[in-house]
Amino acid sequence: MKTQICKIDPEVIDEDILRSAGEIIQAGGLVAFPTETVYGLGGDALNPDASRKIYAAKGRPSDNPLIVHIADLSHLTPLVKGDIPEKAKLLADHFWPGPLTMIFEKTKLVPDETSGGLPTVAVRMPSHPAAAAFITAAGGYIAAPSANLSGRPSPTEAAHVIEDLDGRVEMILDGGRVDIGLESTIVDFTEEIPIILRPGFISLEMLKEVLGEVRVDPGILSEAEEKHIRPRAPGMRYRHYAPKAPLTIVEGPEEQVIRRINALVLQYQQEGKKTGVMVSGENISRYHADVVKNMGSRSEDVTIAQSLFSALREFDSEGIDVIFSESFDTPRMGQAIMNRLLKAAGHQVIQA
Ligand code: AMP
Ligand code: MG
Repeated sequence: MKTQICKIDPEVIDEDILRSAGEIIQAGGLVAFPTETVYGLGGDALNPDASRKIYAAKGRPSDNPLIVHIADLSHLTPLVKGDIPEKAKLLADHFWPGPLTMIFEKTKLVPDETSGGLPTVAVRMPSHPAAAAFITAAGGYIAAPSANLSGRPSPTEAAHVIEDLDGRVEMILDGGRVDIGLESTIVDFTEEIPIILRPGFISLEMLKEVLGEVRVDPGILSEAEEKHIRPRAPGMRYRHYAPKAPLTIVEGPEEQVIRRINALVLQYQQEGKKTGVMVSGENISRYHADVVKNMGSRSEDVTIAQSLFSALREFDSEGIDVIFSESFDTPRMGQAIMNRLLKAAGHQVIQA
């Protein structure tokens, strides 16, 4: 299939492009589009064939459900069985449109293909203006996982989408680099106390401020792996984001981390290996690896989140043999960043 790649300006969205993107979706085809979190791979959420095509294009296991994206609050009610919980309405008030996904019992309107066979549906209303306009042009309900091949880092710019999906989808909307760079926070409302299934830009503290009591799925905490606790969101169970080269996170006091990473780098370089490191901007000049990635400042951890997935992709094209990373347990987005970084590292962590 020939993939059409269309540049769009999020401020002034080209009506012709929007119309043809909408027509592709209504005919059962696929369009990748920018959101404020990462690029999504969109199909008609109410069309089971479109959802099947999404799984096929990504090589995604079909038991890993898709998030349904809406652009209008009135489109939530038809998806949700029974009343929308009051706490969910509160969160929608505070954080929609935005990087928050909520899980509800689903109605029959949502095909089992879209929900990965689950009786529940995940719903999000993105704030990116191009995403909202595209969803509306396409009929209001877009099923969209991240627009990467299954297992690869999520795409934060159109070039990443082209790398993974060129020839596999009808159209890619290129809206430039995304704002946040990590996928949405997922909150499950199917139990009395809301529970975070995936950390993201909307943090536990922000949710607690609005809701009071909020729990975190024990399956996504760092000790879950060794204790064999399964995450509740199917997608959190899969290996994800891993670069081709092995990645190790080095934890500990700053000076010791720098010394240990430099010692490891030297050791691998002496074996003829090409080394890469992922470090905070504050320490950049102190590392001696072949490729040193400046992940951004610890005091502005949103920049670290933004850099994470593209850094992981770049290591592949740079032919790096071995990667070491500082730990980024920053106060604001640390949970979300470390959740992705630990997965990318296959939970390989050493103490300096
Ligand atoms: P992605 O869109 O690629 O970020 O993946 C969507 C994530 O949402 C995956 O981790 C899914 O497992 C999760 N998800 C979607 N729907 C549900 C649901 N009904 N229950 C639990 N997790 C879900
Ligand atoms: Mg994904």
